[in-house]
Amino acid sequence: MGKVLVIGAGGVSNVTVKKMAMNADIFTNILIATRTQSKADKIAADITNIKIHTAQVDADKREELIALFQAFKPDLVVNLALPYQDLSIMEACLACGVSYMDTANYEPPEEAKYQYSWQWDYKDRFEKARLTAILGCGFDPGVTGVYTAYAAKHHFDEIQYLDIVDCNAGDHHKAFATNFNPEINIREITQRGKYYENGKWRETEPLSVHQTLNYPEIGPKESYLMYHEELESLVKNFPSLRRARFWMTFGQEYLTHLRVIQNIGMSRIDPVRYNGMEIVPIQFLKAVLPNPGDLGENYTGQTSIGCRIRGLKDGKERTYYIYNNCSHEEAYKETGAQAVSYTTGVPAMIGAKLFMQGVWKKPGVWNVEELNPDPFMEELNRQGLPWKERWNVDLEL
Ligand code: NDP
Repeated sequence: MGKVLVIGAGGVSNVTVKKMAMNADIFTNILIATRTQSKADKIAADITNIKIHTAQVDADKREELIALFQAFKPDLVVNLALPYQDLSIMEACLACGVSYMDTANYEPPEEAKYQYSWQWDYKDRFEKARLTAILGCGFDPGVTGVYTAYAAKHHFDEIQYLDIVDCNAGDHHKAFATNFNPEINIREITQRGKYYENGKWRETEPLSVHQTLNYPEIGPKESYLMYHEELESLVKNFPSLRRARFWMTFGQEYLTHLRVIQNIGMSRIDPVRYNGMEIVPIQFLKAVLPNPGDLGENYTGQTSIGCRIRGLKDGKERTYYIYNNCSHEEAYKETGAQAVSYTTGVPAMIGAKLFMQGVWKKPGVWNVEELNPDPFMEELNRQGLPWKERWNVDLEL
């Protein structure tokens, strides 16, 4: 049916491309382009049922991207590289008349800060070019925005309180590893916490606010309040929200390692001189940590990510909890990846599928919650991320 160009060949890309091949009626021709071509070749080697090619590209370089897009002529570019490349890829899409999708919002390399405004600024240009850009189509951001839109559409007249809860109760049997790109992950977790309440953003010291939450089929886990990018778009797109927060579970062992990494300066993002050359400590750290894409083999346990929502329906207060639990072992059996790559890569494939079918095709720049949640929710059940709902339960928050 169409041509898709996937940029990046890490843990998430591996899952997205394999799931695309399982939807071969839609994805007939895929090009994986990335910095280290051998990684794209490794993913492509497992796929035999559709046309698949690989290429080398530095996605920081607009001109290289333009040459690649002009040669392959994709219908859609799916950006599964790093947030640093979002803007150069969006620019190249505009230059070549191609639509765009990603799973993480733009972040400047020299500053650990992310916000949507850089990408929202492209709205007029995409609209005028009659091109679609879909932002943040992983799990969180991604499915959490779709869950919220689905709840607002079908279960509430007004959503007022939103808590996104993200639990990884898995065990990869390593002393320390991150579940997605270590550099992006550590930058995200070590920043100040932030949540939205009564029209204002409130800041907290990093990981200073925490409480025990119960997760279905998992039980109690210490959950830490942190800032997460979908909060920014959700409070804008659902102005009835009085409070919006994000919670993530961490084990003591992980937090101890993180504290040591910070204390010894290994999380620094500014260059230091070493043996006559400049290195960025966090990038060096990434090179010695386990590759998140390789964690799957011995990973046991499951993830549980969902939205806990309180609001009004027919004048009465209602609570609603919608979530997905994903087993690391099952994800590995199907795609060779652990559940964090899986829960990100599957929604990216679904977003691309809905775009290719014309269902999520709309000129402009959109966060996922601005598009119709219903077809996406149906696909989640079909593509390996089934969801469950609970009404009028104690949300604990
Ligand atoms: P990885 O580090 O495993 O993979 C990133 C890939 O991008 C690598 O193949 C890397 O190449 C490539 N890349 C990096 N820089 C460039 C460049 N300049 N040009 C071309 N290719 C480049 O990351 P993940 O797969 O774990 O994560 C991918 C994305 O998904 C990230 O943006 C992450 O933030 C996002 N994510 C989103 C989630 C969500 O729920 N929304 C959850 C988890 C992740 P090389 O191999 O040479 O380094």
